Parts: sequence; C-alpha cells; structure tokens
Amino acid sequence: MSSQSVREIHEKIRYIHGLYRQLKTLAARYNNAQLRVRVQKKKTAEAEARYAELKAELDKMHAEIREAEGRYGLIDAALQKRKTQLDQAKNNKEYTSLKDQIADDQRRNDALADEILAQAEKAEEFAPRVAEAESQIEPARKAQAAVEKELRDLVPELRESSEHIQSELRQKIKEVDVEFAPPLREALRAFDGDQALAPVEGEYFCGGCRMEIPMQYIVALCEGKPYTCGSCGRFIYLPKDFTINNEDEDD
Ligand SMILES: [Zn+2]
Repeated sequence: MSSQSVREIHEKIRYIHGLYRQLKTLAARYNNAQLRVRVQKKKTAEAEARYAELKAELDKMHAEIREAEGRYGLIDAALQKRKTQLDQAKNNKEYTSLKDQIADDQRRNDALADEILAQAEKAEEFAPRVAEAESQIEPARKAQAAVEKELRDLVPELRESSEHIQSELRQKIKEVDVEFAPPLREALRAFDGDQALAPVEGEYFCGGCRMEIPMQYIVALCEGKPYTCGSCGRFIYLPKDFTINNEDEDD
C-alpha cells in the first residue's frame, strides 16, 4: 500500500494532466500565431501578384496604343506626300491613281484613329482597377508586419510560461506515488504530452480512446492500484469526486 491516499494520488495526476494541457494550449497559441502570419503573407503575395498582373495588362494596352499611333504617323506621312504629289501630277491617269491612293490611305487612317481612340478609352477605364489593386498592397503589408510582430512578441512569453510549467511538471512527476510513477513515465514516453493521460469517463471508459474499462480495473484504481488503458496504453486516473455507481449491483 502506498503512503499517499488514493484521493491524493489521483489529485496529483489530475494536476499533472492539467499542466500538460496548459503546455498544449501554449503550443496551440504559437501555432495559431504562425498560421496568422502564413495567411497574411499569402494575402500580401496575392495582392502583389494581382497588381502586377493588372499593371502588365495596362502596360500592354499602352504599348498597343503607341504601336498604333506609330502606324498612324507612317500612313499620315505617306498621305501628306501623296497630297503634294497630287499637285504635281503630270497627267489625268496619275492624278486619278494618286487620288484613289489618298482616299484609301485616308480611310485606313480614319479607321486606325477610331481604333486608337477606342483603345485609349479602354485603357482609361481599366486604369482605376490597377490603382485599386495597388492600393491593396500597403494595407496587406502592414497587416503582415503586425502579425509578424505579434508572433515575435509571443515567442519569449510562451517560452517563459513553457519553461515554468516544465519545471513544475518535473517536480510533480517526482512526487507521484512510487507504484504509479513507472506506468506514468512509460505512458509519457509513448505519447506526446497531454495525450499520455486520460481520466475515467462515464461508466466506465477511457477518456482517451473511449474503450470500456473493465469493472475490476475501476475497482483496482479506487483501491490505489495504477491502470494503463488496455486498448490505447494511456495512463488512467480518476476524475475529481469519482464514485463507483453501485445502483445496479446486487452486492
Ligand atoms: Zn484508452
């Protein structure tokens, strides 16, 4: 029989489980902060990519307009040359031919001018979308910097809390009843932190894997014997104010 009462033994183990759960909460806070940074980095990258894409599209429109304006200039220069030649036409045939070419070039350039105008209007309508996309970049970068700072500030705080809990854990585990200590340590080696322990739940199953715990082991736990779940291997302890329900029992 151990030197600690059954109630004291399970209280200590419950407390140890509580410390492991606190460690898990700290880890979750760190993971969440990291996740927020990843999400925000993605948003920044998306905002930058969106702007780059729209900006490239607008640049292409402007390049097309410049190219069309160049063509317009060449046709116009040819047109002006023919108009001069028209004044110096030597005969009727040459005159008619030049006049036809001038009319032809004029039609082409009128069409080109309409096209340039339409492209310019399109580019003008498109420009605010580029500006809008650009305006999204700075807020995204600021939001990213904010969550990155949150993470940086959180790290020392979490480290300090974690070290405090770990040191308390080492102490509490040393104080565990001599008969309970070996199976507890074994479960702690096999599982990650809080997963190594589970309370008895309901009537009566393992709070970790939900498998039923045979009545004889519940009785043994109440009598101060340790029990490791036969199904999952978690170290089992009694919850606060645990009592065996005897109402359906004959004895
Ligand atoms: Zn189990």
